[in-house]
Amino acid sequence: MTTILIVEDEPAIAELLRVTLEAERYTVRDAGSAEAAWQIIEEASPDLLLLDWMLPGQSGLALAKRLRQQTRTKTLPIIMVTARAEEADKVAGLETWVDDYITKPFSPRELKARVKALLRRRTPEDSDTPLQAGMLILDPVSHRVHCDGKSLTLGPLEFRLLHFLMARPERVFARAQLLDAVWGDEADVEERTVDVLVRRLRQALATCRLDVMLETVRGTGYRWNPEKQNDIAATS
Ligand code: CA
Repeated sequence: MTTILIVEDEPAIAELLRVTLEAERYTVRDAGSAEAAWQIIEEASPDLLLLDWMLPGQSGLALAKRLRQQTRTKTLPIIMVTARAEEADKVAGLETWVDDYITKPFSPRELKARVKALLRRRTPEDSDTPLQAGMLILDPVSHRVHCDGKSLTLGPLEFRLLHFLMARPERVFARAQLLDAVWGDEADVEERTVDVLVRRLRQALATCRLDVMLETVRGTGYRWNPEKQNDIAATS
């Protein structure tokens, strides 16, 4: 399940974007203002933002800048939607704050291509680079996980869950999102199976006292929080 958040104040355009993206089987959320978008980003951790520049209240650009300053959202893929009237020099400066931009009016085909290309670029698991959180190192190539020099024994599902979460630190994921990430969106698996898998992964991580990094977020789901390790260091 890939979730795209549309931030657009004109209902007709928002609807067109929604229909186009839903046809590609993306899950779509929408917000009519930067403030409403901020709320949704906090709760739902979208995978990509389609952000109109000209919004009532805070502008799309101001929202993009704010997102880039937060650890949790600084790598959130953003495509800015601009009007043709916007000055070329201003638009050129956009690339500091957003990943891509698209000028109105655009064809559904162009939009789909941009979204797909950006998601492909930004899927962290595609990288062969080992992921690290303090003493914990995950090597995507050998599928090995080490902690303070010790090797952790993880099953393939635990590995996939850990890989997914470590690649997206600080973000909160609902059980349904984790389910899709680990089993794929075609799988017929119940959401509580995610809890069982989380428990197994925590048991493995507990051997080097890192289970605290996998946090339960009440009412929402789970989050990988590398900061938690500092707390351990401070108390031991
Ligand atoms: Ca607008």
